Amino acid sequence: MSGAESARTYGNLIGGEWRAARSGETFDSVNPARRSEVLGHFARSSQSDIEDAVSAAVAAQPAWARTPMPGRSEVIARAGRLLEERKEELARLMTREMGKVLTEARGDVQEGIDMAKYMAGQGRNPVGEVVPSELRDKRCFTERVPIGVVACITPWNFPMAIPCWKLMPALLAGNAVVFKPAEDTPLVAIRLAEILVEAGLPSGVLNLVTGYGEECGAPLVENSLVRAISFTGSVEVGQQIASTCGRLGKRVSLELGGKNAMVVTADADLELALDGALWGAFGTAGQRCTATSRLIVEAPVLEAFTEQLLGRVSKLRLGDGLDPATDVGPVINQTQLKRIHAYTEIGLQEAARLLTGGSIAADGQLGEGNFYRPTLFADVKPEMRIAQEEIFGPTLVVIPAVDFSDAIRIANGTRYGLSLSIYTRDLARAFQAVDRLESGIVYVNAPTIGAEIQLPFGGTKWTGNGHREAGTTAFDEFTEWKTVYIDYSGHLQRAQIDTDAS
Ligand code: NAD
Repeated sequence: MSGAESARTYGNLIGGEWRAARSGETFDSVNPARRSEVLGHFARSSQSDIEDAVSAAVAAQPAWARTPMPGRSEVIARAGRLLEERKEELARLMTREMGKVLTEARGDVQEGIDMAKYMAGQGRNPVGEVVPSELRDKRCFTERVPIGVVACITPWNFPMAIPCWKLMPALLAGNAVVFKPAEDTPLVAIRLAEILVEAGLPSGVLNLVTGYGEECGAPLVENSLVRAISFTGSVEVGQQIASTCGRLGKRVSLELGGKNAMVVTADADLELALDGALWGAFGTAGQRCTATSRLIVEAPVLEAFTEQLLGRVSKLRLGDGLDPATDVGPVINQTQLKRIHAYTEIGLQEAARLLTGGSIAADGQLGEGNFYRPTLFADVKPEMRIAQEEIFGPTLVVIPAVDFSDAIRIANGTRYGLSLSIYTRDLARAFQAVDRLESGIVYVNAPTIGAEIQLPFGGTKWTGNGHREAGTTAFDEFTEWKTVYIDYSGHLQRAQIDTDAS
């Protein structure tokens, strides 16, 4: 597909129809590796488009909820097969729309496929429990029921995986969804919506509205007919959404930022840790919520490890993610490019030692895109801003630790709690770390990235609000529990009073 062919105008999906925004306005999605390449023009939606989408969802939800769950899961299964058939095409589109290298884009689509298969299987699993009653001739059970209309608001860094993590369990549970993808990746989102429609989702069960956060995300959160918000994105926006939901009495689940660390102990396999650090820090140009952005290294191996790391980082090749020779692709947009560079300046002001990178790459073709040189800082102190704040770019900071306990203390010492990892050959150290690291996800002898969809995903502290996506916990986000008591004794029985035990 050439850029010229794809630069058409795309609408919102509302009640089964693709329509322009009511204002008629559009915005563009561009290739971050080549800003002159426009992938398409997209509906710039606002409040009235949100109202249309929510009305369509409200109308469609009851019939969808009455469709037996195995029937709903068939639609998810078919969507998974379509994703599988189109994996390569979707991965290439993703690389063009948000820049990650093709191998990683394939992995992103694969997460969607895995989630579809997993959720399709869940469609025939139990949805509750039968619990003994304290009274005779009385049956008690629980069941999960849909919430109603839910909103899914997603970021650009996993444009297929994150929407699939949300949409598939939300739809399987019998909800209707209004999906608001990130403004940087509307086309991948549209391709996913098309697939779900093609797989047999009835009109109005999934509605997709493209546009900017403040213009259409905020009215979606405010809409009184939307009963729950599933949000993945920045802490700033997440906290704003949570406060609106608190005021309006809505359910909200938040998956926010991270400042993930990898601890390298003195007894670690250093080669293994080097491979992990490189993949964890510079995969997706560091734009993963689970990216390794702090490396905490015990004193005895600090110098040797940093030196070897520098050798490897300085050899990373920047370029277009479609080029198989590229190790690190572009960052998403110019705003983010400038923000990453601002953090380099902050690091220098804080007297951290810049070992490599630290600049915008503008030579030759790189100047046509948003490229930042893989950056490594040494002599970083745990309290520095570059060691505390999420940079979301290809910047890795090395923090010395005097010993194991110091390393754990530093790892836990940020406001985030998404993913922490430790490299050690000592079994006791590994388990002590599992016990003491304060994060939703802990890895041993692996970097901070690499989540699998059949396990719960999410973070503690400012990273989240206690929900977990993926795994069976995904349903906690998208269902209500209903508790049912059936008394067939034919007379009044009083719980806690008329029991055989009393
Ligand atoms: P962002 O918060 O700027 O945007 C996320 C989404 O929210 C977008 O769709 C955006 O349009 C929308 N939005 C913006 N303002 C809004 C508002 N006022 N009301 C409603 N919606 C609004 O985040 P981003 O830049 O797209 O993504 C990067 C961030 O996401 C990073 O902080 C990263 O760590 C985080 N993230 C977290 C996870 C996780 O699972 N914990 C996964 C991926 C990314």
